[in-house]
Amino acid sequence: MSLDNTPHPSVKHCADTVDARYIHGRPDHELVPSRYALKVGEIDVMVISDGVLSLPGAMLGHNVDPAVRGAWLEDMFLPPDVLEWALNAVVVRSGGRTILIDAGIGEEYPDMPRVGLLAMRLEAAGIDPTSVTDVVLTHMHMDHCGGLLADGVKERLRPDLRVHVAAAEAEFWESPDFSRVSMPPGFPDALRRTGKRFLKEYHSQLRTFENEYEVAPGVVVQRTGGHTPGHSVVRLASRGDRLTFAGDAVFAVGFEHPDWYNGFEHDPEEAARVRVRLLRELAANREALVATHLSFPSVCHVAVDGDVFRWVPGPWEY
Ligand SMILES: [Zn+2]
Repeated sequence: MSLDNTPHPSVKHCADTVDARYIHGRPDHELVPSRYALKVGEIDVMVISDGVLSLPGAMLGHNVDPAVRGAWLEDMFLPPDVLEWALNAVVVRSGGRTILIDAGIGEEYPDMPRVGLLAMRLEAAGIDPTSVTDVVLTHMHMDHCGGLLADGVKERLRPDLRVHVAAAEAEFWESPDFSRVSMPPGFPDALRRTGKRFLKEYHSQLRTFENEYEVAPGVVVQRTGGHTPGHSVVRLASRGDRLTFAGDAVFAVGFEHPDWYNGFEHDPEEAARVRVRLLRELAANREALVATHLSFPSVCHVAVDGDVFRWVPGPWEY
């Protein structure tokens, strides 16, 4: 896929051409609650799915021979041309604060009916928007901040809400560089638009940090860079238990092929270095991992497998 900085009509083009064609039929999706709760020491954690995004298969490694990429998809029992991307957000409760980590894509994309479900699913989980004291954004791509721009959402959030994002991220979206990405048509424009709109609408709630900030007891957001200049991960630690929400630092293919460049990475080399560093650390300290685009509920561990890594899904505990 070539670099794409030319104007395109909309993201609709992509949604139409890569519409989901997963081999299994699905029941009405709300038969599946799409939330999963766990504890990290004294911290309450709930993973909530915003839905599933369908993207072109090439997104998973644009620096890789298409035949090699196709073989990986085949080995994973996935269709050859569509990447089904889970879209997970997390709600964390610690020290009397309720923290939403990332917010899904919102409702600006009616052509992608299987995403933008976070508001409905928060409500179904009994989480009142006014109870949310803090939002942490791993970065400002639209699938992470768009949910806060959906109709009526801001009005339902408390006026003293704090939105934590790395200073480098807020600065980046003033004039973002898309020269190294490889996205489907329509996406660069939609991402630019959403990033700018978010900065404008949430200007007074933004609380920026340089490299690290403790949002609540045992809840620390840390800037990694790579995927975007201010991309951050959230580290949870309580009573000897640990879990990291990795945002877009780790994708499903990244365990086996950490050096494959994802099309949404603004600095792909640095994103790969961040990925390897984080996976090595999580494997060494046996910490749990949750990431935005790992298949829901995505709670897993990381093992070292020779020069690369192995994804070890966590057991369903209910
Ligand atoms: Zn993402």
